[in-house]
Amino acid sequence: LFVTFEGGEGAGKSTQIRRLAEALRAEGHDVLLTREPGGSPGAEAVRHVLLSGAAEAFGTRMEAILFAAARNDHVEEVIRPALSNGKIVLCDRFMDSSRVYQGVTGNLEPDFIETLQRIAVNGVMPDCTLILDIPAKLGLERVIRRNPGGPDRFEKETLETHEKRREAYLDIAAREPERCHVVNATQPEEAIAAEILTIVKQLLKP
Ligand code: C5P
Repeated sequence: LFVTFEGGEGAGKSTQIRRLAEALRAEGHDVLLTREPGGSPGAEAVRHVLLSGAAEAFGTRMEAILFAAARNDHVEEVIRPALSNGKIVLCDRFMDSSRVYQGVTGNLEPDFIETLQRIAVNGVMPDCTLILDIPAKLGLERVIRRNPGGPDRFEKETLETHEKRREAYLDIAAREPERCHVVNATQPEEAIAAEILTIVKQLLKP
């Protein structure tokens, strides 16, 4: 089973993915927890560049190609082998992040993004995508509280951009209701974790 977590900044993805991994492991499942950009040595090297000041010189098209290159490495080196070994793979961000960040708010043509994703995932599609939904303002306030050292270069963008991303995620969920589950991320942490666990356990039923 391949489960991805998506959502804007400060939605609580990392906390919730960790909690889900712990809950599933406690029930005896073999779980691989990974994240993007990164997740394999090659992709982590690309992450380092993408989140650094050096990336300010990149156009959004170049950025999108680098994200896709990192994703393909992550898929082939880590995700596909783990799924073949019967593991549950939980991934913090995946192809929908590219659709939203590089596609919608990066203003790249949907065809370009979709072609890149097809190459990047190479047939490895999430069975389930949990979209943690939170008003942009609330999410950003959480990020600032968590990271008083200052936001990274993606987090520095305007509230309007973050709202646009939220809408873009909800559009994806509306287009692919079988795969995508929208979770209200303004609920208490405990309640969000319980809702996510219920969704995933439903998928694990034979
Ligand atoms: O998940 P996390 O917030 O740690 O992601 C790191 C950063 O990379 C985020 O600030 C996000 O905005 C950015 N990102 C992106 N495009 C992607 C994936 C992540 O711009 N496809």
